[in-house]
Amino acid sequence: MPLRSKLPDVGTTIFTVISRRAAELGAVNLGQGFPDFPIDPLLAQRVAEAMAEGRNQYAHGDGMPELREAIVTKLARAHGIAADPQDGVTVTCGGTEALFSAIQAVVHPGDEVLVFDPAYDSYEPAVRLAGGHCIRIPLQPPSFALDFDRVRASLTARTRLVILNTPHNPACVVHDRAALDGLAEALRGHDDVLVLSDEVYEHVLFDGRSHASVLAHPQLRERAFAVFSFGKTLHVTGWRVGCCVAAPRLMAEFRKVHQFNTFTIATPLQLGIARYLGERPASWSQLGEFFGRKRDLLATALEGSGWRVPPSQGTYFQLLDYSALADEGDVEFAERLLREAGEALIPLSPFYRERPRLRLLRACFAKRDETLELAAQRLREFAGRCAPVRARA
Ligand code: GLN
Repeated sequence: MPLRSKLPDVGTTIFTVISRRAAELGAVNLGQGFPDFPIDPLLAQRVAEAMAEGRNQYAHGDGMPELREAIVTKLARAHGIAADPQDGVTVTCGGTEALFSAIQAVVHPGDEVLVFDPAYDSYEPAVRLAGGHCIRIPLQPPSFALDFDRVRASLTARTRLVILNTPHNPACVVHDRAALDGLAEALRGHDDVLVLSDEVYEHVLFDGRSHASVLAHPQLRERAFAVFSFGKTLHVTGWRVGCCVAAPRLMAEFRKVHQFNTFTIATPLQLGIARYLGERPASWSQLGEFFGRKRDLLATALEGSGWRVPPSQGTYFQLLDYSALADEGDVEFAERLLREAGEALIPLSPFYRERPRLRLLRACFAKRDETLELAAQRLREFAGRCAPVRARA
């Protein structure tokens, strides 16, 4: 009997596809976002100790109290946000589970979810599995500013959720407090519309910018789920530890899904992270500076090469504009770059529903300086081999 797929048009994620091609071709992989440098040995030690102490059985499904307390302390210190460790925080299997569980918790069949394009790839499949569908609102480079007229025009009686992402992956822009004000204003009078805010790069902002969380916004706080990630904050993407923070009435619904989705997150990881944060309570505070230096290293190494580098405002990604080098689509160009330059980057257009004519690729700079230097050298050499593109009429 033929199997009726629930996601017939969904393939393997662009990140996995590009990482696999990079491995096959021995390319320098600035595609999928993950650090290639070692973590703080103290963090590894604290996790190993928790395991050796025998802390290896199920943790509390909501998250270990030690870690929930540490999360609340960090939210207060970093963003001045008050959260309830008992009823307002749940530890999840990375940011992706937090997004998925929040969506399953509130989206009913037939509901509409507003999503801004370019959109991180997990949002839409999660909405569809809940029986909802996404109304995608395209944002325009270079600012990728939120389009509030489109938000207002898209709100219907079926709108259940708006998904926000700041700092934004893959657009590498930051939505500031004024943008959140605009969203709150657009949602005024639509009290049953919730907000799901993907804030996993909360500590990675550049050039003096500060993070504007939905949880710090008086009109959005009560209707919002916010998603955070220790993978990004502690350079441990493979540990899959994140969290969701929301008002208790929302968190109660979130937990109903979470307990049957991942149930509980690895005990020694939670305990190790909690103890580490106790000893290094401000470890995250240097991330903007740390990654800002890497952003600048990559940009400087590409100066004068033909690659245009619009400064990333946040995340550990950088958009690279190749419009002066080639005039083919970004998916084809990324493939050519893999084959001809041994360099893996992520094309931007697959993050849109209606793929626009973009000449942008995303580079991850959460890499050792040597990796960035090698990548930049390959990108420069490749650019040198490209015939200049004549200005379009
Ligand atoms: N968040 C990572 C990125 O943007 C990808 C994670 C994944 O492969 N799903 O590159």
